[in-house]
Amino acid sequence: MLIQFRKLTTSDQPLQFHQTVDVNDAAQGRKDIVAVQPLQVDLKVTPSVSGTVDVRGSLQGGLEMRCSRCLKPIIEHVDIPFHEVFQPVEDPEAVQDEDDDTTYVQGESVDLAPYVEEAFLLHLPLAPVCDTDCKGLCPNCGQDLNEGSCNCDTEVIDPRLAGLKDFFK
Ligand SMILES: [Zn+2]
Ligand SMILES: [Zn+2]
Repeated sequence: MLIQFRKLTTSDQPLQFHQTVDVNDAAQGRKDIVAVQPLQVDLKVTPSVSGTVDVRGSLQGGLEMRCSRCLKPIIEHVDIPFHEVFQPVEDPEAVQDEDDDTTYVQGESVDLAPYVEEAFLLHLPLAPVCDTDCKGLCPNCGQDLNEGSCNCDTEVIDPRLAGLKDFFK
């Protein structure tokens, strides 16, 4: 998914990307992700007269994540709007501004793959649940509380009050 700036400004055809991207590497190390389907990427690249390059479109895919409460695998679908504005410059570090949405890049071209991966990871559900009523696992014995309760004493004592309890002994 390479944008070559010079080629872009000399071509009269709009540059578009319609392809699937393997995001398995990007998902590596995430314990809440079980499996990822290839991401369907649909992007349109539009150069402006001021020299910026506008990339807009959507990323769609499906993945298997773990319920944040009971760890059961669940299927999540993502439909992520994508928008980045690139500006090729001599020295990106000299002009990069925190308040600026423009991404300054050096060189003749920019590869969209890392930006697509970043957008994908940023838009994943933070704490997906299999069901809004999921009771989760017992923190003591690991019993899935959706399947039945365990015999643990789940009354938790506030650590600040625990000291007080000893004091009154
Ligand atoms: Zn669950
Ligand atoms: Zn238990």
